[in-house]
Amino acid sequence: MYDLIIIGAGPAGCTAAIYAARYHLKTLVLYADMGQISYAHEIWNYPGYEQINGTELVRKMMAQAVKAGAELKQAEADSIKKKGKAFVVKAGGNEFESRAIILASGLKHKKLNIKGEKEFTGKGVSYCVTCDGPLFAEKDVVVIGASNSAVMAALMLNEYAKSVTILSRSQPSADASSLEIIKKSNKIKVLNGEPSEIKGDKFVNTIKLKNGKEIKAEGVFIEVGLEPSTELANQLKIKLEKSYIKADNEQKTNVKGIFAAGNITNRTSLKQIITAAGEGAIAANTAYNYLKGI
Ligand SMILES: Cc1cc2nc3c(=O)[nH]c(=O)nc-3n(C[C@H](O)[C@H](O)[C@H](O)COP(=O)(O)OP(=O)(O)OC[C@H]3O[C@@H](n4cnc5c(N)ncnc54)[C@H](O)[C@@H]3O)c2cc1C
Repeated sequence: MYDLIIIGAGPAGCTAAIYAARYHLKTLVLYADMGQISYAHEIWNYPGYEQINGTELVRKMMAQAVKAGAELKQAEADSIKKKGKAFVVKAGGNEFESRAIILASGLKHKKLNIKGEKEFTGKGVSYCVTCDGPLFAEKDVVVIGASNSAVMAALMLNEYAKSVTILSRSQPSADASSLEIIKKSNKIKVLNGEPSEIKGDKFVNTIKLKNGKEIKAEGVFIEVGLEPSTELANQLKIKLEKSYIKADNEQKTNVKGIFAAGNITNRTSLKQIITAAGEGAIAANTAYNYLKGI
């Protein structure tokens, strides 16, 4: 039986783990991957590091949590159920019990939910240019989306790919200088349209559009936004606000013994490392008070 299980090992989860372990709570952190921060190539706004790569920063946070005494286990949590006053978390085929939970599961990439998307994920379909972009050197790639992150993805792919097509329903939006680079580039083009299917054999080779046309795509980067990972919260009937977990200023949810921290909460629209870490610290402190009956 753990005192506390934290779901997520991003800045919110790791900070909560450091605080909880230093309070001598028996703490387990379950995490699926290194979270959004690992997509950040360079971070310039986290105090103490003038400039640091996202993966390097989260590795340091994880190491600090382990050093403080928390246990970290890479396993995606599938379910959380109440058992009396405690909770049972199922993850990676095992069950873990704790007296309190902190949900720090951040945001996840929105899916297009079209035919071929799931089938070709990892076979040419990706949600992370920083991670997979270099694999597409000299290939014809398509970025789906019109947001600032879609434009940033296209600019990054411009460094490696043979051609980059931004496929979007509307005009891409980004800062003026990025749009200017796209305008001037002879590698990047913008195509107005909506995908209906991603096709291929062993690997992606085309995208079918809703108007019936097909375009060549040896790589497909889906950049249609992020949404909170609230599947576990929904199982526990935790209240949401605009699809984020509703947490008070002590990071309490409406369910006793369950706290939430980081990008998954409604607490601030500034979804950054520093704010996630701050919420993680407060959540651990509130969980400690709850467990000690303070
Ligand atoms: C490209 C990019 C660049 C960025 N640049 C900056 C920057 O320069 N400065 C800045 O301050 N912020 C930046 N951010 C934002 C920053 O990364 C986030 O604000 C921060 O990572 C949020 O922390 P978090 O702990 O809430 O969530 P995350 O870091 O996303 O961590 C979520 C954790 O939950 C885990 N998880 C989710 N579901 C489950 C489950 N069912 N079971 C187990 N584990 C689960 C994940 O595996 C992960 O470990 C950037 C983000 C991106 C995408």
